[in-house]
Amino acid sequence: MEGRKAQNRDVDMGIESGIPFAVSLSFTGQTVGAAVMALVLLGFYRQYQKSYLLQWTLGWTALALFQLFTGLAAGMSLHMHLAPTHPWRLVAAVAGGVAGYLQIGWMAFGTYELIRRRPVRLAEAKRIVIGLIAVGAVLAFAFLGSGSAPINRYLARIALHDSVSAVVFIICAIGLWRSRGRRAGIGFSILSAALIGYAIVDVVAVGIGIARLLRGDASPFSVYASYLEFLLQSILGVGMIACLLEDEREASDLAAVQIEHLAYHDALTGLPNRPLFVDRLIVALAQASRADQQLAVFFLDLDRFKDINDSLGHTVGDNLLKSVAERVRRCVRDGDTVARFGGDEFTLLIPRVDHIEDAAKIAQKIIETLKIPFVVGDRELFVTTSIGISIFPGDGADPETLVRNADSAMYRAKDQGRDNYQLYAPAMNAQALERLALENSLRKALSHEELVLHYQPLVSASTGRIVGLEALVRWQHPERGLLGPAHFISAAETSGLIVPIGEWILNAACRQVRALRRKEDLDISMSVNLSARQFQQQNLVEQIRSIVHETGIEPEWLELEITESNAMQNAENAIHTLRELKSLGVRISMDDFGTGYSSLNYLKRFPIDTLKLDQMFVRDVTTDRSDAAIVTAVISLAHSLDLKVVAEGVETREQRDFLVDKGCDILQGYFFSRPKPIAELNLDA
Ligand code: C2E
Ligand code: MG
Ligand code: MG
Repeated sequence: MEGRKAQNRDVDMGIESGIPFAVSLSFTGQTVGAAVMALVLLGFYRQYQKSYLLQWTLGWTALALFQLFTGLAAGMSLHMHLAPTHPWRLVAAVAGGVAGYLQIGWMAFGTYELIRRRPVRLAEAKRIVIGLIAVGAVLAFAFLGSGSAPINRYLARIALHDSVSAVVFIICAIGLWRSRGRRAGIGFSILSAALIGYAIVDVVAVGIGIARLLRGDASPFSVYASYLEFLLQSILGVGMIACLLEDEREASDLAAVQIEHLAYHDALTGLPNRPLFVDRLIVALAQASRADQQLAVFFLDLDRFKDINDSLGHTVGDNLLKSVAERVRRCVRDGDTVARFGGDEFTLLIPRVDHIEDAAKIAQKIIETLKIPFVVGDRELFVTTSIGISIFPGDGADPETLVRNADSAMYRAKDQGRDNYQLYAPAMNAQALERLALENSLRKALSHEELVLHYQPLVSASTGRIVGLEALVRWQHPERGLLGPAHFISAAETSGLIVPIGEWILNAACRQVRALRRKEDLDISMSVNLSARQFQQQNLVEQIRSIVHETGIEPEWLELEITESNAMQNAENAIHTLRELKSLGVRISMDDFGTGYSSLNYLKRFPIDTLKLDQMFVRDVTTDRSDAAIVTAVISLAHSLDLKVVAEGVETREQRDFLVDKGCDILQGYFFSRPKPIAELNLDA
C-alpha cells in the first residue's frame, strides 16, 4: 500500500524519472490488488459479521482509492505535465491524501478490534475518521505556493503520511505480537511481521526520498519498493484471512464448551444439574468405599417457595433461587457439589464426612444462612428450608438410593414443622443430637442476652463480713428456665463458645465490682471462674489485661479461679500462665482443691494467693473424722505456704464453727447465701 510513496516522490518533485511505465504499472497493480482484497474481506464480513472485517474492508478500499488517486496524480504530472496547482491534480491530491489517512485509521481499528475482541467505540471512531479526513485534505493544499520548494510539499504530503503509518503499524504489530500467545495459530505472527515490514519500508523510503530530494538524483528504489510493498500487501491479506479462520475455530471451540456446560448445568443458577450431580456422586462413592470413608448427600427443599412464586411472580422467584444457590454454595467447601435438581430442590454432596455431626453442622449452617432475609428488587423475602440427609454407607451404597433416602428424610423434616434437618436413619445417637442442639441454642444465648451472672458472697471467718463475691454464670433458657453451668459449660468448651462467653462473663463481673466499689463504697473483691479451655487460650493474659483496663478496675479487685485439675493438666505451662497473670496484679485462687491430686511440690511453685477447699471435704467435716483431719491439715499446710483458705459449700452452723475454729480464713456456702442476682443480695451484712 505504500508503493505510491516512491512514485509520489517523483510526481511531487516533478522529476522525469524515466520509469513512468513501471510506475503506472505498479500503481495499477496495487490498486487492483487492494480492491480485490477489499472485495474478499467484504465477502467474509457478509458471511461472518465480524466488525473487524468491516474495518479492514474499509481500510483496503481506502488503500485502493489512495493508489488510484495518487496514480492519477502521477499520471497528470508525468504524462500531462499539469502543474501541482491544477484543479485536477488538486482534486486527485485531496482524494488521495484523505484516503491515505483513512486507510491507516481503518486498518488500525480492525487490528484493535481483533486483539481486544470488542468493537471500537463508535463516537470515538467517528471523531477519529473526521479528524483523518481533515488532516488528509488540509495537507494536500500545503505548500502549493509557487515559491515553495518541492521538498516541503513532499514532507507535508508523503513523508508525514508515511511516518504516521509507520508508527501506527508498529504499534499494531507490537499489539499483535504480544497477544499472539493467547491463541493457537500463526495469523497474529504473520500480520505482525507484515506490518513491521511495512513500517520498515516506509521509514527507509522516507529517508531515501529526503536524501534524493536534497541531492536531486533519481534512484531505482522506487520500483523495488513498490514490488516489496506489493509482496507485503499480499502477506498482510493472507495474515488477515488466517486470523479470521483462527477466530472462527476459537469461537466454535468456545461454543462446544458452552454447549457442554449447558448440558451439565442448570441455566438459571449455573449450578451442576442432576446428571452431573449423579456423575460426581458415582465418582465420590467409589473413592469413599476405597478409602473406607463416609459420604453425605443432602436434599434441600425451600419451604413454601410456591407461595412466593405464585404471589410475586416468576421473575422474583427466579432471582430468589439464584441467591439461594449462591448462599448454599458459600456454606460448603470447594470439593463439595451443590446441584439444582429442579424447581426449588437442591442437592449437596459432601464427599467425606468423618463424623455424622459434621454433616448435621453443615445442615444447620445452611438453615441459618438461608434465614437471613433475601433482598430481591425492593423486597425483603424470608425463606426457610427443610433438609434431609443420607449417609453412605449406612443409608445406601448407590446414587439412586442415597438421593431417594435423603429425599424422604427431607419430607420428614417438612413433617416436623419445616425449617429443620433430618437424618435418614437415626444414625446419630440421641445424646450427640441433643448436644448439637444445645450448642446451637447456646450460640444464640450470647447474642440474645440470655446469660446472666449470679453472685455468691465470700465471708470473712473472723469478722463475718462479706469480703468478696464469686460470679457464677446462669443461662436463662427460653424454654427450659434457669440453667446452671453444669448444663452448658462443657458444651461451650467443646464448641469453642467458651471464649466469647468467658469474655462476656469477665467483662460483666468486672463492671459489677467497679460499681460496687465506686458507687456503694464496698471493700470487696470479685472472683471469676476460668474454664480449662479459657485457661489454655493463647491470648488469655492479653484479654484480661484489656478487660481490666477497659472496665477501669484495680487489678487486685479481681480474683481468677482455676481448678486444681486444670492447673495440674499441664503444670509447667500453668505455672507460666499463672506468673503472667500475677504480674498483671490480679489474684489467683485454686478452686476445688483436694480433688485434683496436686503434688506438694507444685503447690509450692504455683504462684497463687488462695486455696479453695472443695465442698466434698466440708460436707462431712463435722461427722467424718478423716475429712476433719484432711481439712485441718490442708488449712495448716496452706498457712505454712502463706496462702489463704476458703472453704466452699458451708451449709450449717456446725460446719462454720468447725472451720472458724480451725483457722479457715474465708467461708462460702448456702449457710450465708445462695448465689443470687446482685439486686437480691444483702451486701451490708
Ligand atoms: P465452683 O467454682 O466450685 O462454684 C461453686 C459451686 O458450688 C456453685 O455451683 C455454687 O452454687 C455451689 N455452692 C455454693 N455454696 C454451696 C453450698 O453451700 N452447698 C452446695 N451444695 N453447693 C454450693 P454452680 O454455680 O452450679 O457452679 C458449678 C461450677 O460451674 C463452678 O464450681 C464452676 O466450676 C463452674 N462455673 C460457674 N460459673 C462459671 C463461670 O462463670 N465460668 C466458668 N468457666 N465456670 C463456671
Ligand atoms: Mg469457683
Ligand atoms: Mg469450687
